[in-house]
Amino acid sequence: MAQTGNISIHAQNIMPIIKRWLYSDKDIFVREMVSNGCDAITKEKLLHPSEADYRVTVTLDKAAQEIRFSDNGIGMTAEEVEKYINQVAFSGAEEFLKNYEGDAKGGIIGHFGLGFYSAFMVADKVTIHTLSGQEGAQPVRWISEDGMAFTMEDGDRNERGTDIILHISEEEKEFLDEFRLREVLKRYCGFMATPVYFDVVKEETGEDAPAKEPELINATPALWLKMPKDCTDEEYKSFYKEVFHVYEDPLFYVHLNVDYPFNLKGILYFPKLTQDFGTREGQIKMFSGQVFVADNIKEVIPEFLMLLKGVIDCPDLPLNVSRSFLQNDGYVKKLSAYITRKVADKLTGLFNTERENYQTYWDDIHPFVKYGCLRDNKFFDQVKDTLMFKTIGGQYLTLQEYLSKNEGRLGKKVIYTNDATRQAASVSMYTDDNIDVVVLDTLIDLNFLSFMEYSAGVEGLQFVRVDADSETFRKEMTDEEKKQAEESAASLADLFKAATGNDTLTLKLESLKDEALPAMLVQDEQGRRFSEMGRIYGQDFKLPEQLTLVLNSENAVVKSLTKSADEEKNQLLAAHIYDLARMSTRPLEKDEITTFLSRSNKLLEMLCK
Ligand code: ADP
Ligand code: MG
Repeated sequence: MAQTGNISIHAQNIMPIIKRWLYSDKDIFVREMVSNGCDAITKEKLLHPSEADYRVTVTLDKAAQEIRFSDNGIGMTAEEVEKYINQVAFSGAEEFLKNYEGDAKGGIIGHFGLGFYSAFMVADKVTIHTLSGQEGAQPVRWISEDGMAFTMEDGDRNERGTDIILHISEEEKEFLDEFRLREVLKRYCGFMATPVYFDVVKEETGEDAPAKEPELINATPALWLKMPKDCTDEEYKSFYKEVFHVYEDPLFYVHLNVDYPFNLKGILYFPKLTQDFGTREGQIKMFSGQVFVADNIKEVIPEFLMLLKGVIDCPDLPLNVSRSFLQNDGYVKKLSAYITRKVADKLTGLFNTERENYQTYWDDIHPFVKYGCLRDNKFFDQVKDTLMFKTIGGQYLTLQEYLSKNEGRLGKKVIYTNDATRQAASVSMYTDDNIDVVVLDTLIDLNFLSFMEYSAGVEGLQFVRVDADSETFRKEMTDEEKKQAEESAASLADLFKAATGNDTLTLKLESLKDEALPAMLVQDEQGRRFSEMGRIYGQDFKLPEQLTLVLNSENAVVKSLTKSADEEKNQLLAAHIYDLARMSTRPLEKDEITTFLSRSNKLLEMLCK
């Protein structure tokens, strides 16, 4: 006799909500059906250990508009269907509803354990054929069209296990596409513990169409479960290439493996850097007991690690709940801190034992490491002594090494360039003088160097761009000389303002060591950084460039300016000195070049008079 009934008193309210809210993540029904099959097999194996050919087979029958999930697991008796399918199936969903009724859709992870009932997101009819392995159990057939009303009666299955047949609704027919379904299966079930096969029922193709063998979906073993000591470099690399579909080897990797105080396994890979760092996206696949959950769950994986590629498996994590729950979960915070610490350990380990190698990685990993430092104080504390500064000469120095090498000349200053080509002239003023210039030319460096100034624990540490001051090249002046210089500077200021048309120009007269150099144009470090930050964050402060022209009082041309009364000639010389100084900081623009060239010609003519 067929039994009919309603699944649960709450189902009517819940079903439409499930359907609506899960709209964008419908494909999880595949994971839920297959993992239920795997669970049933695990239970059967526990009860009756044997070498039987346990497997879950997913069969696509396009003509019948069906997807069938078959397992030879433990099966269900009629009482069990009643208990596990009809009654408690919604307990998880009910809780979910209570908590997130008012939530915006975007705030919901979409990966909570709807389990069996997720089938109704895509199916307009679900049939269960099941036979329990229990003595004297009768096969059961259960049918429901909407997940609310069901029919349950004696079935005709004669082998232990369960078939769940989804008749896919007209709107969800995309899942009947072989390639789509295979992709979903590979994604969610690619590393499950039980063999999962994909079979496609041949559509009418004539009699001699070759029979296709079911295809094993989870052929690649979950390498992260092996003990690190048993894995070879080759295995790590080929796993990386296979899982992330890349051709290049990773730089290095970290194998996470703990059982206590939490269960966490995984492998994180440091990929080679592509040119456009900013647009690069890592991918960290999150698993729960070998069942794929989602990519890049930011509550578990610290944000800066998202630039890596890898797999993380946390079987105990309540990944089936909403993200706002994960955010406030202490367990999750510990996991995340642990992952960060392991990555930092790897970096310091490499630095301490394979410095040469570590240096070859630095160009690829530095934006990531710096970003980590900015985002996470603990991480910074751990890696701060391993941070490298690459010099123009191709050396890699730690901050301490740089300072002790150049301290005699610079004190606690670090001289850097953010564009070695444009700033070549300023760079070589230092390098010619045997002072190291470091290259800090990625987007993150601007933040990073400010961060270092107040966090590195070095009193008075200052990053100074090559064109930001003339101090290193200055000779000491007596008080008398200083006074003199100020007066001359005041009188020259008008000349230079007029000659250059730049009213905001500040002028200084200093005694520079290199007599041949008439002037240097310097731009205040702090002011420049401030406007650069503004540009990066899209705010236009419209700060005028704070330029200071440092005239060299030792230079013959500069001296002549203070003595000669030939106004026309002075104007030409002043403009020329300014252009020359400017050219050391950046290339002249088109009309600036034209002016420069015609003035050069005039000066040459004057020389011949
Ligand atoms: P969960 O898997 O989290 O328990 P589900 O909604 O996915 O929740 O499944 C509910 C229950 O239905 C399972 O716990 C199990 O007892 C039963 N069940 C579902 N699918 C199968 C299956 N293929 N074989 C045996 N039992 C199943
Ligand atoms: Mg389940």
